Amino acid sequence: MYAFVTGASRGIGAAIALRLAADGFDIVVGYRNRQAEADNIAERIRAGGRQAQLFAGDVTDRPAMRSALEALLASRGAPAAVVLNAGITRDCLLGMMGEDDWDSVLATGLGGFYNVLRPIIADIVRARTGRIVTIASASGQVGNPGQVNYSAAKGGLIAATKALAREVAKRGITVNCVAPGLIETEMTRDLPLEKMLTAVPSGRCGTPDDVAHAVSFLCSPGAGYITGQVLGVNGGLVT
Ligand code: NDP
Repeated sequence: MYAFVTGASRGIGAAIALRLAADGFDIVVGYRNRQAEADNIAERIRAGGRQAQLFAGDVTDRPAMRSALEALLASRGAPAAVVLNAGITRDCLLGMMGEDDWDSVLATGLGGFYNVLRPIIADIVRARTGRIVTIASASGQVGNPGQVNYSAAKGGLIAATKALAREVAKRGITVNCVAPGLIETEMTRDLPLEKMLTAVPSGRCGTPDDVAHAVSFLCSPGAGYITGQVLGVNGGLVT
């Protein structure tokens, strides 16, 4: 029984990979560039007694994803859980937003949904069991100024998640979304967190582990009747 986690080399994805390994999944550790960091996560998973395999690939590269995923299916069969976590930000006001800022954020956050799930969904459906969790954002729920690209990607991801949940529900597969608020990672390192925290009722940033616990729950046997939902992990920022 293995879980495939995209963007698992660091931040929230790394915490999800470690959490799911502690839950008993072997892990396929997806990453784009940072092999040393992905390797470190894989080592920690093995030290905890589960198998770990690295999976290098850019989720925006459709042909490369398709062939790497076909190879994964051929060697390991369908994953018991898939966590679509890879995402990027390129923040700026729309009036100054370059084409690449728009395209790259949409291609990663939303395009990744198609590029990763399209090659594997038939095998997951055939297995008649499985968990799919997407990582969106509070920005995709409310729309955040300075992030029209990111809000669009994450809002689209939420809608795609809900639609797929309805497509595959009868096959015993759940598809849910976790929508984090402000989480302390490299992605938020340069933001004025102190100022932003005034909007967060709990008064603190979340940790990658806070998000990982929500994903762990949605991947657990007890969550089998929960599908098409958006679970906020945001300290009360969006209710
Ligand atoms: P980080 O920037 O810390 O990590 C991003 C991860 O995604 C890395 O593992 C990176 O791989 C991988 N990645 C990025 N682009 C690609 C790509 N094109 N193909 C494959 N992998 C890719 O981000 P966080 O951990 O903070 O965020 C994780 C997810 O949570 C994202 O989807 C983000 O939008 C979402 N989120 C984060 C919030 C926060 O406050 N931090 C809030 C709400 C949502 P590599 O290391 O190899 O570059």
